[in-house]
Amino acid sequence: MAHAPAYDIRHIEHANPVPSATREQAIADPGFGTLFTDHMVRIDWHEEKGWHDPRMMARGPIALDPSASVLHYAQEIFEGLKAYRHPDGSLALFRPEENARRFNRSAARLAMPELPEEAFIESIRALVEKDRDWFPSVEGGSLYIRPFMIATEAFLGVRPAKEYAFLTILSPAGGYFKSGAPAISIRVAEHYTRAAPGGTGFAKCGGNYAASLVPQGEALASGHDQVVFLDAVERKWIEELGGMNLFFVFDDGRMVTPPLTDTILPGITRDSILTLAREEGLDVVEDRYAIDQWREDAESGKLVETLACGTAAVVTPVGKVTAEDYDFTIGSGGPGQLTQKLRSQLVGIQNGTVEDRHGWITKV
Ligand SMILES: *Cc1c(COP(=O)(O)O)cnc(C)c1O
Repeated sequence: MAHAPAYDIRHIEHANPVPSATREQAIADPGFGTLFTDHMVRIDWHEEKGWHDPRMMARGPIALDPSASVLHYAQEIFEGLKAYRHPDGSLALFRPEENARRFNRSAARLAMPELPEEAFIESIRALVEKDRDWFPSVEGGSLYIRPFMIATEAFLGVRPAKEYAFLTILSPAGGYFKSGAPAISIRVAEHYTRAAPGGTGFAKCGGNYAASLVPQGEALASGHDQVVFLDAVERKWIEELGGMNLFFVFDDGRMVTPPLTDTILPGITRDSILTLAREEGLDVVEDRYAIDQWREDAESGKLVETLACGTAAVVTPVGKVTAEDYDFTIGSGGPGQLTQKLRSQLVGIQNGTVEDRHGWITKV
C-alpha cells in the first residue's frame, strides 16, 4: 500500500511570543475561552489545488475579504476537544479520531471539503507539542483545542465556496468545577427549537449555536444554567441541551439516552458514557423519552438521576427542570451516585489515572 502523504507542517518562526513570565502568570488562572497560546496551524483548500500549505504560525488575526462567503452564508464548522496532562508529565488526547470523523460529517452537510483525518490529527498534535508550555498549572486544567473551517472565497452568491481555510487554536482552560460537580438547573425551551429533521442538528456548525443564543439567554436571565431542547415536530421528545447530550437513570438500573437522529449532535462524551455505563452492568438503551414522562418519573421517584455530558464540562448532574407551568426536582436535586461514578471513571481515563482499556488515549 502506498504511504499516506505525510503532513509536513512548515514552521514559520514567531517573531514575538509571549514572554515566559507573563505566560506563567496567565496559566496559573486561565479561566475559560479568553486566553490563547502563541501559535496556530493553518491549512488552505482551493478547488484546483485541494488541501495545501500546512503551516504552524503566530496566532493572530486572519485577513478575509469582506465578501468572504463565511461572513454571508455561514459555511463554518468546528470541533472541540482537550489535551490532558498525565501523571508522567506527558500530554494526551482523548479519541481525536472521532473528532476528525465528525468534522468530516459536518463538512459534508455544509457542502465543504473533507479534510484527511491524518491532517486533522497531526495539526492538533503538532500544535499541542509546540505550545505545551502553555498547559495550565492549575489543578484540573487542560488545553482546550478548537479546530475549525471557514469558507474564504471572495464571492457573493449562493453556492459552495471554492476556497476554505482550516485552522486550529488552543486555549488553556481551568478546571470546570472546583470540587465535584454541582447540579445544574435547566429551562425547557417551549418557544424555540434547535434542530429540525433534515436540517443541520447533527453537524457541529456555528449556525446551530447562533440560533440557540436567544433561548439560552432567556434561560440564564430567568436564573437557569442551561436550556433543554425538544424535538421540532411534536415538541414532546427530549433532544439535548445547547451543547451537551443527556442521559436518564432509573431505579431499576435502566439508563436511557435519546437516539442519534439527524437532530442530535453525536457527542463523543455521550458515546464514551454509553460504553462505560454498559460495562457497569447498566441496561442502556437509546430511545425516545418524552418531557411529560420525565416529569412523571421524577415525581414518582422512578427516575433517580439525569446527567448532561460534553467535552467542556465532562459529566454534569441535572438537579432541577423548569417549564412555564411546572417545575420538578430530580432525586435529591444534587449529584447522583452513578453520575459521580461515571464522571470519575471518564476523568480518570482522560487524565491517565484510570487504565485506558478502550484505546481512547493518543499520546502527543
Ligand atoms: C459538541 C456538542 C456536544 C458534545 O459533544 P462532545 O463530543 O461530547 O464534546 C453536544 N451537543 C452539541 C449541540 C454540541 O455542539
